[in-house]
Amino acid sequence: MNKKTIRDIDVKDKKVLVRVDLNVPFDQITGDISDETRIRAILPTVNYLLENNAKIILCSHIGRPKGQVVDSMRLTPVAKRLSGLLKRPVTATTDCIGPDVVAATGNMVSGDIVLLENLRFHAEEEANDPDFAKALAALADVYVSDAFGTAHRAHASTAGVTKYIPSVAGFLIEKEISMLHNALDEPKRPLTAIVGGAKVSDKITLIDKMLEQVDNLLVGGGMVSTFLRALGHDTGASLVEPDKIDLARRLMDKAKANNTNLVLPSDLVVADKFDREANAATCQSDKIPADSMVMDIGPKSVSAYSDIITKSKTILWNGPMGVFEWDNFANGTTSIAKLLASLDAITIMGGGSTSEVVDSMGLADKMTHVSTGGGASLKLLEGSVLPGLAALMDKD
Ligand code: AMP
Repeated sequence: MNKKTIRDIDVKDKKVLVRVDLNVPFDQITGDISDETRIRAILPTVNYLLENNAKIILCSHIGRPKGQVVDSMRLTPVAKRLSGLLKRPVTATTDCIGPDVVAATGNMVSGDIVLLENLRFHAEEEANDPDFAKALAALADVYVSDAFGTAHRAHASTAGVTKYIPSVAGFLIEKEISMLHNALDEPKRPLTAIVGGAKVSDKITLIDKMLEQVDNLLVGGGMVSTFLRALGHDTGASLVEPDKIDLARRLMDKAKANNTNLVLPSDLVVADKFDREANAATCQSDKIPADSMVMDIGPKSVSAYSDIITKSKTILWNGPMGVFEWDNFANGTTSIAKLLASLDAITIMGGGSTSEVVDSMGLADKMTHVSTGGGASLKLLEGSVLPGLAALMDKD
């Protein structure tokens, strides 16, 4: 990574504003934090700053409050949990800018930690408003970007703030970037990408880019039906993106031209309706019954994909193979997850639903890297510039 990190600057006795991603999920019934992965992910940076006697001001968003104060999206419970993990006080403020925040951060001593209230309670955050960014920057001497999950957004706390104080990357950003780049720049081959998820339109750029880099590209998820239509097959009642059929055809042509092994499932699990309780049946991919829709890849496809995956040295996975949230249609996704966890290969999971799957199965520790950012890892793999990264100081 050609960006400066916290190792490249002096943080001793400095006030350091750290943009982190503490957008944790809450249990709908108990209201407790249901997954603290994102809190644990910021610990290396926070601990480094503590060891180096900095004054730490953390800021984050939770959810989409759209510029309003929403009590269920306050960061107070996160401050409590973080305090428990660090075994030291974390002071939560009631806002992220304004006189109370200036007072709370004014007399900090080295080792103090303040967590500012949800940035998105102010519409100016997502609007990348310069005055709001300036007010955030005025709280600190140095800015550290460690929120990989929002690095693909040009917001006040990810990009705007960098105009006013020296800005460097934290350890989570550094790790995410180097893991994803290493996997693609000089990969151990065979390199296989597994791309699934709901729609072709969400993954076109990724597939297009991957076709230039990978040896195998295995397709799953809802987008399978659009590819099958491009091959001239009937897809029954499946959701198809009609305006993307031509594109799917072009992607298959590109794969042929590049000598990339683009693989579609040979069999599928289908259902008569899009419902958790829908009856599951298996069929050949070119024989989908008229009243059925694609819900998962079938057992023969799992087996064929597994053969290719087992022979690969690097595997990138973005998007589930089926509607994994429902047991009847989870087999493709869970089988691939279990296989990847058992391999002695480089296994990189994109964020979002792919991370959700491996986290919920307790397999995250068995993978080489599980990204904390769905949109950001997708953008990075697509080869796009992340505004929150581009804005940081370059290495000399
Ligand atoms: P993405 O965020 O693009 O990775 O998509 C994840 C979503 O794709 C999950 O919520 C899955 O339920 C959904 N998905 C996967 N396969 C299918 C399918 N065959 N039909 C509809 N949705 C699907």
